[in-house]
Amino acid sequence: MLAVGRDRARDAGYMPAPGAPYLCEDHGDRLREECGVFGIFGHDDAAALTALGLHALQHRGQEAAGIVTFDGTHFHSERRLGLVGDNFNKAEVIGRLKGHIALGHNRYSTTGDTVLRNVQPLFADLDSGGFAVAHNGNLTNALSLRRELVSSGAICQSTSDTEVMLHLISRSRRRLIVERFVDALLQIEGAYALVCLTNDMLIGARDPIGIRPLVLGKLGPSYVLTSETCALDIVGAEFVREVENGEIVVITKDGIESHRPFPRRPARPCIFEYIYFARPDSIVGGRNVYVMRKQMGVELARETPAAADVAIPIPDSGVPAAIGYSQESGLPFELGIIRNHYVGRTFIEPEQRIRQLGVKLKHSANAAAVRGNRIVLIDDSVVRGTTSKKIVQMMFEAGAREVHFRVACPPITHPDFYGIDTPRTTELLAANMGVEEMCRFIGATSLAFLSVDGVYRALGYDRREERNPQFTDHCFTGDYPTSLTDQNGPAHAGQLSLLSEVS
Ligand code: AMP
Repeated sequence: MLAVGRDRARDAGYMPAPGAPYLCEDHGDRLREECGVFGIFGHDDAAALTALGLHALQHRGQEAAGIVTFDGTHFHSERRLGLVGDNFNKAEVIGRLKGHIALGHNRYSTTGDTVLRNVQPLFADLDSGGFAVAHNGNLTNALSLRRELVSSGAICQSTSDTEVMLHLISRSRRRLIVERFVDALLQIEGAYALVCLTNDMLIGARDPIGIRPLVLGKLGPSYVLTSETCALDIVGAEFVREVENGEIVVITKDGIESHRPFPRRPARPCIFEYIYFARPDSIVGGRNVYVMRKQMGVELARETPAAADVAIPIPDSGVPAAIGYSQESGLPFELGIIRNHYVGRTFIEPEQRIRQLGVKLKHSANAAAVRGNRIVLIDDSVVRGTTSKKIVQMMFEAGAREVHFRVACPPITHPDFYGIDTPRTTELLAANMGVEEMCRFIGATSLAFLSVDGVYRALGYDRREERNPQFTDHCFTGDYPTSLTDQNGPAHAGQLSLLSEVS
């Protein structure tokens, strides 16, 4: 394991020098995605079930969706910008996606360039036949690999890191497709939960430490591979098990096989799945996400009590933690903010000035629960501070006497390179300000965060005990669990220009 600490990230330009100004800047055109994947093998309604699965995973990606199927003779593909429900709701679309094997993907990205060619599953005609790939995560050496591929003559169709996988598989000298896939995996770094489809198999793979989630389910005789259990529930599939870290699962008409090509290492799943990403009804790592978030609220109330009258969540992400906070503190739980469900997640708007509008579009004050009260306002996380600043102001305008802001995770001080889109350090509020300064910035009466130990306690562990599992928690600790070739190596300097050439 290579821990890449704060100094290496700073040297690479991702950490500001101490005292550098806090800049809320555009994301630029970067490879960064959090996504949902769903694949099913051996079902007459494979495409319709995949559309349902993607609908349940809509929270993981709202920018675009795609489905690829195989009908015994041909591959079929539909890739669309926008929500699953708006694009895969018609019998004619599903009808075109014939076949008993299907693979789907929801894309969430903040790259400035939203184009169809980046929408997954990506498909290639290899000499062995068609191959489609859907990826959740982010490869930390994709740009370096891509640079090598391009210089040796490869033509890239997309700006997606996932396309590198197709090239590596295509170039492998191995005979069997699974061997070629393994060959490609041995060259990539970073976070991946991959599901791939060929004319006779569905393949799933998780990176060596299992940063991003992937579960195996069964629906009658059919197998399902997907990001979260909520996608199994919607199609009525039973949960079989998680795909393990470093495991490759191959599903064919003869059943299921498992391969482990990497040296065994302890798993380090991403802690942010519990904090923000996964849907609350999903079971991740054997734990119900809702129960974990509520427990984070309990720990938050214990660590950071506030003299107040009511506990108010920032909906929807802050609701479970606020229930926990209310139960532990005895403060009544009130809906002081009403969320409009017809706008996407705030982050979906790529530019800061639009994101600010998005906060207003999305949340309104419910003055009846706020006026005259000292409120504790609870959210799951603060990233740029855009949401918190607007909502604190909104609470005071609605008549709150005091606004005590409580955050059910630690300050996010380090950027993410594994696909969760916590942006450059210059855009992370907590990387640029101490708690007091952040409190002034968002305009709250007081501000406090859950400690890293508190998050682990909520998940049932004492962080200091060696034998307890560790999570991927670099956002709070700076402990990056993989090498960061693109960020630390020479490819870093070429990152933007490489992308701008193809955008
Ligand atoms: P901000 O307004 O930039 O501080 O963002 C904080 C809000 O975004 C919180 O309400 C979180 O629920 C949500 N959030 C946290 N992390 C992410 C992420 N990686 N992508 C999208 N939204 C996020």
